[in-house]
Amino acid sequence: MADHVGAIDQGTTSTRFMIFDHDGAEVARHQLEHEQIMPRAGWVEHDPAEIWEHTQTAIKGALEKAGLGAADLAAIGITNQRETTVVWDRRTGEAYTNALVWQDTRTDKIAAALTRAGHDETIKRKAGLPPAAYFSGGKIQWILENVDGVREAAEQGHAIFGNTDTWLIWWLTGGPARDGRDEGLHLTDVTNAGRTMLMDLESLAWDDELIALFDIPKQMLPEIRSSSEVYGHTLADGPVGGEVPVAGDLGDQHAALFGQACFEPGTLKNTYGTGNFLVLNTGHEIVRSENGLLTTMGYKLGDAPAVYALEGSIAVTGSAIQWLRDQLGVISAAAESEELAGSVEDNGGVSFVPAFSGLFAPYWRPDARGAIVGLSRFNTKAHITRAVLEAVCYQSKDVVDAMVADAGLELDALKVDGGITANELCMQIQADILGVSVSKPEVAETTCLGAAYAAGLAVGFWSDTDELATNWAEASRWTPQWDDAQREAGYAQWTKAVERSLGWIEE
Ligand code: ADP
Repeated sequence: MADHVGAIDQGTTSTRFMIFDHDGAEVARHQLEHEQIMPRAGWVEHDPAEIWEHTQTAIKGALEKAGLGAADLAAIGITNQRETTVVWDRRTGEAYTNALVWQDTRTDKIAAALTRAGHDETIKRKAGLPPAAYFSGGKIQWILENVDGVREAAEQGHAIFGNTDTWLIWWLTGGPARDGRDEGLHLTDVTNAGRTMLMDLESLAWDDELIALFDIPKQMLPEIRSSSEVYGHTLADGPVGGEVPVAGDLGDQHAALFGQACFEPGTLKNTYGTGNFLVLNTGHEIVRSENGLLTTMGYKLGDAPAVYALEGSIAVTGSAIQWLRDQLGVISAAAESEELAGSVEDNGGVSFVPAFSGLFAPYWRPDARGAIVGLSRFNTKAHITRAVLEAVCYQSKDVVDAMVADAGLELDALKVDGGITANELCMQIQADILGVSVSKPEVAETTCLGAAYAAGLAVGFWSDTDELATNWAEASRWTPQWDDAQREAGYAQWTKAVERSLGWIEE
């Protein structure tokens, strides 16, 4: 009986395969880290062959741990680091160059040139994104312009592009055509396509005007499909060991939204990792941000209308805790921040603004730098640590406020996941600062679960999102304890601190 669903999570640092049961509980996982290749300042690459190799090992490893086989899997879903760009030869399966990772900034100049040429508005209106090195379009252009023979091969239909979802689906469903066997499927889903700067958010199709801006031969782009449908089947002689429907595909942040069962407009998830990622479901409406947030896809289930989202990210959250540990040495492990910050009643007048490389959404002030303000002789490292935890939460509040303002929606709760959510004090502070309850699910692996959900829905393993919503079980909930006056005073102090951090770097 196929009473499990599998999901591949192809992340920035590792690739894992997880197996879930019908309740959405984890049955097994296997995970492998891959090499971060940094040949020059600002360049970050992955070896696509290593990623495919690790995916195969992860699938086999998890199936073996669970004592399961292909016949036990109703479907497989995939979620992936978004934007990371692979261009390969469809005749051989060999990549022309390493994958350009989303963090790679070598295409800064391509993005800046688009801005200079006045294309910002067009790209924003159609794709929902501001031109930036982050997104795939410029990365494809860079490969076409800088790797010998690729443009020619693309024009002849040999060189094809994909994010790592596309790369893995292509391999899982066939790879290169050989021995009379068809080539693998070359496709992606709307959430991944929506991160290229090449897809029109309304038509959900590649946009000829955008493609022309990047001078990309259209035939190298994958077919855009929904996030949940049967795309094809795994090869019987592949790592799964049988023909299993490949039926779900979502970029990681979209998968986390889905795994958190944020199915209604106004539902929001915040992932607390090295940085934070907030995604707000805005329903069928495409909300244009007045605050520099990204307009992005939520997900699209088969033929049903697409669900859109607003996305805001915060560069420095968990990394500020690492900074306390590694640069200041006031804690020896991230978890110690909770006890130390909890040893004082409040921040003692201290605020910390982690503008290490400027302030991003919703401030967009590259001239800001980090600041610790409000110090008096009385303050200790405990106050500073508490101010760091508060900064994680105030930065989140700033993005939440911007989202709520843009979308005109009421927020009634926040769903959280990620490493920092282990810190109970930090989550309590988050509830206090926002004035709404903060909830964490039992299954912490929301990203992988979201991909499994998308795949399971497509094959009828789960009937609908209502059923998935009943799977969402709360592990912890923090409710606000501050009164309005406390909340206002706290936020006023944070706002003052942010002002102090601005204008530090002069042109
Ligand atoms: P990523 O996926 O970005 O690697 P994780 O979700 O694994 O991130 O979270 C790791 C981050 O969480 C690290 O920056 C670490 O400092 C922080 N972190 C982990 N545990 C705690 C804790 N108990 N208190 C505060 N921060 C923590």
